[in-house]
Amino acid sequence: MSTVAAYAVPAAKEPLRRTTIDRRPVGDHDVSIDIAYTGICHSDIHQARAGWGEAIFPMVPGHEITGVVAEVGAAVTGFAVGDRVGVGCLVESCRTCAHCRGGQEQFCPSMVFTYNARDRHGEPTYGGYSRSIVVDENYVLRIPDTLSLEAAAPLLCAGLTTYSPLRYWQAGPGSKVAVVGLGGLGHLAVKIAHALGAEVSVLSRSPGKREDAVKLGADHFHLSSDPATFARLTGAFDLMLSTVSEPLDLGAYLSLVRNDGTLVNVGAPEAPVPLNLFALIDGRKRLAGSMFGGIAETQETLDFCAEHGIGADIEMISADRINEAYGRVLAGDVRYRFVIDASTI
Ligand code: NAP
Ligand code: ZN
Ligand code: ZN
Repeated sequence: MSTVAAYAVPAAKEPLRRTTIDRRPVGDHDVSIDIAYTGICHSDIHQARAGWGEAIFPMVPGHEITGVVAEVGAAVTGFAVGDRVGVGCLVESCRTCAHCRGGQEQFCPSMVFTYNARDRHGEPTYGGYSRSIVVDENYVLRIPDTLSLEAAAPLLCAGLTTYSPLRYWQAGPGSKVAVVGLGGLGHLAVKIAHALGAEVSVLSRSPGKREDAVKLGADHFHLSSDPATFARLTGAFDLMLSTVSEPLDLGAYLSLVRNDGTLVNVGAPEAPVPLNLFALIDGRKRLAGSMFGGIAETQETLDFCAEHGIGADIEMISADRINEAYGRVLAGDVRYRFVIDASTI
């Protein structure tokens, strides 16, 4: 057991405070990682507010973790001290169910989230807003040499969560992809969809993001706050990816998807959204969801991003600014991911 510094949410909606947590002893199959950087995902904020329902407090959020291996267990074969590694949204699963065998650990009934969950011994899991973490080697990712640890951190969740549906629904040359919401997930969705060869449009409520969208690789930028956008773009997209963190008028967005097209929602608002089902009936459209991805696909995301020179656009902060960063994410003031320098925890 080791005691390490961390930032924790003491109770729902309370500000984060510096504290210490215990990490388990390094078991035979474990890797102990000195954390270098952790991204702030909007999911951290939803959970810190218990916005998705009951949550476990104190909570140490963080599931976009990169760092360096500090110690390996006796039976570890895949990693050595000094390796550059990452940890994403999940740290354990049953390894035997159909989901696990199919590389879809995120859907395993026994999957253990990196934080706000209990491990198989019933102990709470604590995430990346801390100096170190101990994880079974099967749930540790390798960071390609060409990616910096800070720009790679957000790929572990935001990158994976957008890469997975873009691949599943075959974004590529000849397909018109719309990304709704240009935040942490959205800006990586634009980069990845562009790298896949799709024609990429951004639908954003923020006029100030137009230039950035183009720099990130978007071919078109449309203001979602302008009703004319919806009249002009009826049926324009093969695939739409919504990354919006608040309830959205899905019916209006579905009208922009072509017949037989798909709107994939990855945003996880705290409240339900109403939908008039005629938006699907008329045009045989599909509304789908997607939850981050499995371990092999996380590695695939990292390798794809390295190959295409894709990292997150980040604003690095020291740990004493996490609460301020939460406020800025909620106010839509992030370009495009806050990353915590873990050495300041
Ligand atoms: P983020 O950085 O805050 O980005 C969300 C973007 O949505 C904002 O930048 C904004 O873009 C747009 N937006 C926010 N409020 C809006 C509103 N009221 N109306 C219209 N647009 C609004 O958040 P994120 O970290 O990318 O996460 C986005 C969502 O995905 C969160 O709900 C998060 O929990 C969820 N998530 C889900 C998964 C999964 O596995 N499915 C994984 C990770 C995250 P514009 O200014 O461009 O409009
Ligand atoms: Zn996340
Ligand atoms: Zn399983």
